[in-house]
Amino acid sequence: MLGGDRLHDVSRPWSCGKQCNARATHASFPDPSGVRDLACSPPRAEAVTLAESPDQSARSRGAHGLGAPTRDPLLALSQEADRGYSRGDMTGAVFAGIETGGSRIRARIADAGGDVLADAHWPTTTPDAALTNLVAFLAGAVPASGTLVAIGIAAFGPLVRDALSGDYGRVLNTPKPGWSGSNLRAALAGRFNVPVVVDTDVNAAACAEWQRGAGRGVRSLAYVTVGTGIGGGLVVQGRPLEGALHPEIGHIRVGRREGDRAPSVCPFHESCVEGLASGPAITRRLGTGRALADDPALLELAAEYLGELAATLVLAWSPERIVWGGGVMSTPRLLERLRSALTSTLAGYGVGEAAAAPDFCVSAALADSGLEGALLMARASLPLNPKTGL
Ligand SMILES: [Zn+2]
Repeated sequence: MLGGDRLHDVSRPWSCGKQCNARATHASFPDPSGVRDLACSPPRAEAVTLAESPDQSARSRGAHGLGAPTRDPLLALSQEADRGYSRGDMTGAVFAGIETGGSRIRARIADAGGDVLADAHWPTTTPDAALTNLVAFLAGAVPASGTLVAIGIAAFGPLVRDALSGDYGRVLNTPKPGWSGSNLRAALAGRFNVPVVVDTDVNAAACAEWQRGAGRGVRSLAYVTVGTGIGGGLVVQGRPLEGALHPEIGHIRVGRREGDRAPSVCPFHESCVEGLASGPAITRRLGTGRALADDPALLELAAEYLGELAATLVLAWSPERIVWGGGVMSTPRLLERLRSALTSTLAGYGVGEAAAAPDFCVSAALADSGLEGALLMARASLPLNPKTGL
């Protein structure tokens, strides 16, 4: 029986409601030694703004001219702030992962062995508040014995993810107040002078699930999160789909079921899957005090819309597996009904056979896939040692 907590999970899966909650955790990393407690305290740094934090690395790209654009933009970034670390020699290296979400912003610091040294999160308000909190956290939580060498950001979109662009990391038009045009990546690069890499939260999560979670063993996977919004990414051999921007699968149109006249929660589309089957859409349909698991008809409706989305991904991307995350997907029987809807939507077409396998649609395995993906991105931004090739 699910009560208010479940409803809370469905409607605001990442909301914390606290001003600051810095704590140390160990998450899924191997060795608990070295975990350091951080007192819950107000930021120690002075308030800073994005406007005061020019992107030194972007400016240096223009000033020094790195020559012809490299095919590895992450390597280009790391070369700008090379401190002698390489992927084969990370002794003393410390990495930071950041995840910006619609409800809260999370940050994690980990050492080269993957041990988590500190965690923190704050409510998502303005870009300047986020920068102030992050600068204070990163400045205070990196141990004296370590050196911060790279930062990875798993960010909500839409954003510029082309590392060779002067606008790398800039948030494009978004309904989130104050965030359009902001660039947290550039601001942090200007503050810390280390490689700061960014990708969408779903691409980061997809990479983490592929490397360490439910996607191990396959060459390609699609990751879909169903929560406050619906988003997803495609990863092939560990690399997210390279496109003009990034996929926005939550806004794929689905066919309204007969009799479904509920208004869409998407301000742009009347019949996109996010508008009809995201956490807020489900909560609006349920009314207060009820959970999705309490309403079998609504669960079936949500499963049909999500199954139609899955069929679109199968037909467009043909991934070997689809990994499902987000608060809504923790609803019992939803994944099972979604599998059935996927099969019926494909209606016996040839590719449906692979999609009908029991391990085709699976639940996410990592609790913090976005943050872990951000940390993996940070690690991957280090160059290979030219002498050892590691
Ligand atoms: Zn939409």
